[in-house]
Amino acid sequence: MNVFAFTRIKLTIWYVTAIMAVSIMFSLVIYTGISRNIEDVFYRAEMRLRNSPNLGQQVVKQIIEQKTNGEGLVPMDNGDILDQFFIEELRLSKQKVFNNLLHANILILLLSSIASYVLASKTLEPIEKTLLEQKRFIADASHELRSPLTSLKTTIEVSLRDKALNSQSKKILSDNLEDVDALDKLITSLLQLASQENKTIVKQLIDINEVISRVIKTMKPLADKKGVKFTYKSKHQQILASETSLIQLMTILIDNAIKYSNFGGKVTVQVLPQKRYIVIRVVDKGIGIHGKYLPHIFDRFYRVDTNRTVSTRPGFGLGLSVAKQIVENHHGTLLVESEICKGSVFTVKLPV
Ligand code: ADP
Repeated sequence: MNVFAFTRIKLTIWYVTAIMAVSIMFSLVIYTGISRNIEDVFYRAEMRLRNSPNLGQQVVKQIIEQKTNGEGLVPMDNGDILDQFFIEELRLSKQKVFNNLLHANILILLLSSIASYVLASKTLEPIEKTLLEQKRFIADASHELRSPLTSLKTTIEVSLRDKALNSQSKKILSDNLEDVDALDKLITSLLQLASQENKTIVKQLIDINEVISRVIKTMKPLADKKGVKFTYKSKHQQILASETSLIQLMTILIDNAIKYSNFGGKVTVQVLPQKRYIVIRVVDKGIGIHGKYLPHIFDRFYRVDTNRTVSTRPGFGLGLSVAKQIVENHHGTLLVESEICKGSVFTVKLPV
């Protein structure tokens, strides 16, 4: 469920609760007031009947006839018969008022639910629109930045091949190239996030083993650089998913597993097919994440701020937000278990 649909329902529930609280309070006041009035009227009527013996006699006779349906008289004092009659009538009248108020409240509940839903939608409309425009702006800006960045990268790479350059200039250009690469990665992540949030994904039947093997192959040079060893036992399993998105997802998780592993570490990728799901686990024995940071790691631009991560491991804190969005677009779940200095396990569960 998208965040706006969820908020709309939450807001509707709040509006309805407020309206119903007021309505029930008023109903209680009305019920108490009307009940008192009826009691007063009935009391005065009973007193009048008791004080006029002829009229009283006639009424008692009628009551007895009505009650016994002409089948003999009930051996009772006239005063008791009148009492019982008024008590019963009072109960019935109160019940009627209660029923009417109950029906009115049910109607208010129905009408207020519809009105609240419309009102909640109207309240959220400008926020939704602004957010959509913001996302579009990020996507457009990222697109626009990509071309000059690519030409900048090519120019620096060509310049670096120039033999006439002294070592200091080469060092400056290399640093520039690193910065351009970092910016390129940021733009890629922003574009991935934008496309996942717009749900522009096309699903098809794909083999999960092929996806993982491809990602591992691409990541191998990076792992070798850090002396990180991969363990992956292939399992052929078909899944209805977007191939590009799954490649992005596995790249993010495996890249993180390598990035946050220590030199010579070990990364294990497991595929555990289940009846209606497929479970993919990416396990590393790296630096781990402290429990207090775990609820935030899927937030945008969030990075665990310790000198063991930020200074030595480049990144922008966008990878896991993209990963989470991809998993949500496939109606799956992404969970993490981690222990500091022992490593992390990221578990993806996707419906097949
Ligand atoms: P980035 O890696 O670019 O900083 P991510 O969104 O991928 O951004 O991750 C957010 C944060 O979660 C990282 O900064 C890191 O602190 C933590 N993290 C993610 N994966 C791991 C992992 N496998 N081991 C330890 N920490 C991790």
